[in-house]
Amino acid sequence: MPIVHDWLARRAALAPERIALIDANHGERRISFREWNEAASRTAAFLHHGLGVGRGDRVAVLAYNCVEFLDLFFACAKLGAILQPLNWRLSASELGGLLADAAPSVLVFGPEFRAQVEAVRPDASFVRHWLSLAAPAQGERAFSERDTQTELSLPPLELEEDAPWVLCYTGGSTGLPKAAVLTHRSITANAVNTVMGWGLTANDVAILNAPLFHAGGLSVFTAPLVYVGGASVVCRSFDVEGVFDLVRRGVVSLVFGVPTMFIEMQRHPRFDAVDLSRLKLVISGGAPCPGPVFERFFTRGVDFKTGYGLTEAGPNNFWLPPEDVRRKPGAVGVPLFHVEARIDGERQPGDVGELLLRGPHLCAGYWRRPEDTARTFAGGWLHTGDLATRDAEGCFRIVGRSKDLIISGGENIDPSEVESVLAGHPDVAEVAVIGVPDPKWGETPRALVVPRPGTAPSSEALLAFCEGRLARYKTPKSVRFIDVLPRTSAGKVDRRALSAAHGAP
Ligand code: AMP
Repeated sequence: MPIVHDWLARRAALAPERIALIDANHGERRISFREWNEAASRTAAFLHHGLGVGRGDRVAVLAYNCVEFLDLFFACAKLGAILQPLNWRLSASELGGLLADAAPSVLVFGPEFRAQVEAVRPDASFVRHWLSLAAPAQGERAFSERDTQTELSLPPLELEEDAPWVLCYTGGSTGLPKAAVLTHRSITANAVNTVMGWGLTANDVAILNAPLFHAGGLSVFTAPLVYVGGASVVCRSFDVEGVFDLVRRGVVSLVFGVPTMFIEMQRHPRFDAVDLSRLKLVISGGAPCPGPVFERFFTRGVDFKTGYGLTEAGPNNFWLPPEDVRRKPGAVGVPLFHVEARIDGERQPGDVGELLLRGPHLCAGYWRRPEDTARTFAGGWLHTGDLATRDAEGCFRIVGRSKDLIISGGENIDPSEVESVLAGHPDVAEVAVIGVPDPKWGETPRALVVPRPGTAPSSEALLAFCEGRLARYKTPKSVRFIDVLPRTSAGKVDRRALSAAHGAP
């Protein structure tokens, strides 16, 4: 597969004056491919000539969705540097862990995150430059210094296909989050898949309001639309009214989000009145979407589809033929052109098994975690940890999870990470965390706690203990006290038994 590492330059040469970005954070300012490419080049020049960033160096970003985030994405591609997007929902100690993992030499941050930056700074001596997207404090530099840079002057860069481009953090079964290494090859293959699978054209305009720090938010439309010459509307974050307004005015034709966003949209009192006729495609991904939500969008005449993906494999692996959208609501479809999919242990259609994926769109494993990589990519197949079925027509459906992950509002929560924080409380003897169904968030975490003999901790005290140690979305929404944790014959906590006994909302 040919790898165009400097996509933006290529597109800017082909269609310089086409609109590439609409900056909804600043009065819907329109930015052409030429302007965007120049901004990304100046950013790369500043990183390289001004701050010493070179090939393989990490550049972290902690910011709401903004145009500068996307400039950094392509600036890193131009330099062969590696972008480390950070989840701004994380606590300072969690952020500190991610920074220590990738040891970026530069951290770019939005003014809203100054407190987190101050908190992580003492333990992040590897960060040589703190770049503020607003006014810099002492010892920091302003991102806007890039505006005075001239073009990047580097000998032409030859990047191999598996050169890393982005480190995207994801939960896992081993405690701390780990980074999927998205390469130039995987991002290219995903873009080709998306363009083909969803029939994207230069006339398409997508709304970018899912967080850019997630693989889905960052790559579901950004790279594919550069590939075809379409445009993206950059929005700070998700807000229902803002989406309705852009849709009503016909500014956007594509919407991607997690089920929680669509649940909120179809519950909104204005949902039935908003003109949705100019929407070409709405895609829900990241977690199972309830059937009634599909129905609500269908009755409004919207082409509402499920996208299935994961950080390790990109946001788009299957394609549902148009005639199946209503016939098989909720199914994910047949594998896209560059995707091989199979169901572990399948003998006949309908058998449930773990979904395995293979193809050039997969990440190159986990950043500096060879054991996790070997386990998850055993035999060259990505073991997704999701349970799926395939019908007689070859159409896949995700039916559950074999991994312990909890997905709340599209954010993944690794129960063992929450358990290890709660286990640090002096009154906790044992703890297990399970997911409980929730009509808005899909699932929320619940802690099942065995108190230490002679103690009687309160839920409030335990939840207060999580504050500052865990992101709010990972903090259990409820705590139950029990006498003993059930165990399997192998001595592991029996999560299935716990869910059966304590998993009702
Ligand atoms: P992430 O790595 O954050 O993108 O999360 C990936 C996980 O989200 C997958 O392994 C699935 O468990 C879940 N997921 C993603 N898309 C879907 C979907 N369409 N239906 C059900 N679960 C999904």
